[in-house]
Amino acid sequence: MNNERQKLADLIFPTITKTIEDYEKQYPERNLGENAKVTRFAPSPTGFMHIGHFMPSLIDYVLARQSEGIFYLRNEDTDTSRTVLGAVEYIRSVLNTYDLNPDEYEYRDTNETKGEYGPYIQSERKEIYHTFIKHLILEGKAYPCFLTGEEMDSIRESQSKDKRRIGIYGRYAKYRDLPVSEAIKRIENGESYTIRLKSTGDFNRKFKFNDLANGEMEFPENDIDIPIMKSKDRLPTYHFAHLVDDHLMHTTHVVRGQEWISSIPIHYELFKTFGFKMPKYIHIPLILKKDGDTIRKISKRLDPEAKMTYYEEKGYPPLVVIEAVMTIANSNYEAWREGHPDAHFTEFEFSPKKMSSSGALFDLDKLDNISKNYISKLSKEEVYASVLAWSEKYDPEFSLILKKYKDYSMEIYNIERERKKPRKDYTYYSEIKDKTWYMYDEYFKDIQYDFSAYNHEEVKNILKIYLNDYYNELDEENIWFEKIKEMCTKLNYATDMKDYKVNSENYKGSIVEVTNIIRIALTTLTTTPNLYDIMRILGKERIKNRIEKIIQ
Ligand code: GLU
Repeated sequence: MNNERQKLADLIFPTITKTIEDYEKQYPERNLGENAKVTRFAPSPTGFMHIGHFMPSLIDYVLARQSEGIFYLRNEDTDTSRTVLGAVEYIRSVLNTYDLNPDEYEYRDTNETKGEYGPYIQSERKEIYHTFIKHLILEGKAYPCFLTGEEMDSIRESQSKDKRRIGIYGRYAKYRDLPVSEAIKRIENGESYTIRLKSTGDFNRKFKFNDLANGEMEFPENDIDIPIMKSKDRLPTYHFAHLVDDHLMHTTHVVRGQEWISSIPIHYELFKTFGFKMPKYIHIPLILKKDGDTIRKISKRLDPEAKMTYYEEKGYPPLVVIEAVMTIANSNYEAWREGHPDAHFTEFEFSPKKMSSSGALFDLDKLDNISKNYISKLSKEEVYASVLAWSEKYDPEFSLILKKYKDYSMEIYNIERERKKPRKDYTYYSEIKDKTWYMYDEYFKDIQYDFSAYNHEEVKNILKIYLNDYYNELDEENIWFEKIKEMCTKLNYATDMKDYKVNSENYKGSIVEVTNIIRIALTTLTTTPNLYDIMRILGKERIKNRIEKIIQ
């Protein structure tokens, strides 16, 4: 019998001569501190990054950093039909943007690799997986299955019609007990096959499983003979690759989405079959969003904010996105932040138990608030550098303007900044142009002014008198204001708003109208940051040009 298994195993894997022990020697225990956590971000290279993947990678990073452990990136590309070229490079760039760079990785495009536990790309680990599968065949714990696609379809159909569990188990596992000699014959005849695990589980038996986020859970044992190697490309399935890689790479903590909870029975059985210690699991909550009156799962189809590109295109500072995600990841993060306003987020002691199992509500208004506060506390140089970097990528024309007017732009960003209660004008970098365009002559062309609330001759009159008799670019703010008041008195506009309320018939209008006319003339807008600051930055030439254009 054993001879026959050997024959079968050699027939399927003729070139595999190594053993599991060889690999265990090659990848020994990591030399880390007692409590060090080894985490991994294991994306499938599908070409985009969902916020539901960002959250686990952020947690992976935090857990590794605060335990002096290792955070590595593993490219799970065994589903070749879903693999998109450049996807890993994209993921690397996202991690880099957020400064969540992995300690170990393998990048094909630049031929860079770091770490002793690679290859970190699953499709390059075929020989390793085959060694583990060969081992199972030799032990009689896995077998070749010759079910065709049509047969599988008809099994699935009849199972769903009879409301039975879907899968190859019990009497559906037609090739489970096929004599080994038969299997050898079929393979020699060129029949195609997959390799399945010969499950020893009993669906009616339960086992307990401790998830670090969700606590103790109970599951029925797996009894499905899951495929572990596909026929087409002889690559392992996700479940099998997960077992081999997390074992050999010595992962201590697996952080992944709730959608994987239903796979626990399979993973439990796989680890048990080999006698390997399971890593600890943290199944993170679904990310939810409020949609009208309902709360639902955030969706990459419906919600632009589900994709990480959204935050970059809008120009949210990376730390702001991290802050918002940390806030929903751990219920005590916000309180911690209040007590530690300047601490780095990795200093927060992340506790899987403090994750909500019912879902994490992601709120864009909250993100915006965090962002406004954050940007308001940056220096003008920091704002300038960030807007420039953003615009170089997303608005090259604006980036040229910014480069041409570097100090000038910084002065704009500096309006009521660097004080105890700074202005909160900007939520993300993409809106800065919309909020400051009028400061640049290049954009202040072919524009419409709306003076419809005022008498046109009076507008011209006020502007002319102001420019000729009352405007002086050297005036300090209080003098500047005194002069406007002086002009108002002369032209019979009230400067005392209380008096104006009671005796409005005595006046042509009030100082509010006068300053508004000046404001519109210089910016087209009725609300802007402090007019004095705007005028100070615009300077005499621009002010003169803009006002004269209207007078004419
Ligand atoms: N490749 C899987 C995914 O992208 C990884 C799940 C895991 O972390 O184990 O969802």
